[in-house]
Amino acid sequence: MSLDWNGYLARQNGRLQLESVPLAEVAHAHGTPCYVYSRAALEDAYQGYVSALAGRDTLICYAVKANSNLAILNLFARLGAGFDIVSGGELARVLAAGGDAGKIVFSGVGKTRAEMRAALAAGIYCFNVESASELESLNEVAGSLGLRAPIALRVNPDVDPKTHPYIATGLKSSKFGVAIDEALSLYHRAQAMPHLDIRGVACHIGSQLLDPAPIAEAATKIIDLADALSREGIALAHLDLGGGKGVNYRADEATPNTVDYLAPLLAALSGRRERLLFEPGRSLVGAAGLLLTRIEILKHGSEKNFAVVDAAMNDLARPALYDAWHEIVAVAAPADDVKTATYDVVGPICESGDFLGQGRELAVAEGDLLAVLSAGAYGMAMSSNYNTRPRAAEVMVSGSQMHLIRRRETLDQLFALESVLS
Ligand SMILES: *Cc1c(COP(=O)(O)O)cnc(C)c1O
Repeated sequence: MSLDWNGYLARQNGRLQLESVPLAEVAHAHGTPCYVYSRAALEDAYQGYVSALAGRDTLICYAVKANSNLAILNLFARLGAGFDIVSGGELARVLAAGGDAGKIVFSGVGKTRAEMRAALAAGIYCFNVESASELESLNEVAGSLGLRAPIALRVNPDVDPKTHPYIATGLKSSKFGVAIDEALSLYHRAQAMPHLDIRGVACHIGSQLLDPAPIAEAATKIIDLADALSREGIALAHLDLGGGKGVNYRADEATPNTVDYLAPLLAALSGRRERLLFEPGRSLVGAAGLLLTRIEILKHGSEKNFAVVDAAMNDLARPALYDAWHEIVAVAAPADDVKTATYDVVGPICESGDFLGQGRELAVAEGDLLAVLSAGAYGMAMSSNYNTRPRAAEVMVSGSQMHLIRRRETLDQLFALESVLS
């Protein structure tokens, strides 16, 4: 395997296994489609941040939206992680998974008053406020509870992260955050509000970033803002640099390790006294998971060959949504009589955008298992029931053990909340 899977995905006698669990055994025990995660890979990714940030006062807040399974949240909570949430639902998940409310930051452009109340009652670490209007309503809600809301302003440093436009979030044209040149006056307004407590400043410029330069550039803009605030008597306790580090999706792509990726940013921040926050999502879970699927039908057309599999865009939306590439490999070594051919790997959904990969060289037969790699982030989390398809099961392997961490949905569950007219 040329893809960097930290050695957790390997072939043993031709059979693909994650840690010490053959993927064929996972499919046998829990069926397909099925997401499979490596506990060791998850822990390693987290420890990568811990070692890169050693010796600094930091809080690593896992961005829950990348993968919100309770087992994954619980694993990170046990490692001491904080959490970056974007909804009241994610708040409830983190608390249900044993996460520490005192280590939660709450991001998002459209927090409702009910969500603000729930987060205040739980005692979260900080609200990352994204507009003037949100400052006003948070101040009101906190006042009505007799509390003070800890806040950071999410500023928009206007740097180009050089990523897919749907996941670039720090440009002036973005709906996220407040313009950095409006931040000073907004901090003054916040300071004058009786039920707000200024804690820090936050930014998040985009996702799947492979070049460390843009985030270092964002850091220098954040530092300038912090210094300007300090001159005007507003001291910040923390600087939150967001998430965004990319993972390997292609075997021939080189992704910087966490130490190298953070080095220019940490150099820009050397000597600063503020606590540093990070909000990594994809880089903690993306490479630690794969989607296991079975080939139902091989269809050889005049122009194209199709491998129709039992996973689809409802299970993994990234190829359809972002034109994203995931490596796809056969789980078993091919039998001698199977010829390699070029396939579009597609699902059964009635949309031409329903593909997991196009133009892939595979030596496979009907009934074979495929593994769609680097699917741990924004995979299950973005899945749906489109075409009335029950969502996939999720399994976590640890050494030679496998744990079912989410049962496959049943058809009954899919329409349990619906009713016909009387
Ligand atoms: C999505 C998001 C993250 C995580 O981004 P990744 O690219 O998955 O690391 C962090 N912070 C905020 C505010 C986000 O919206």
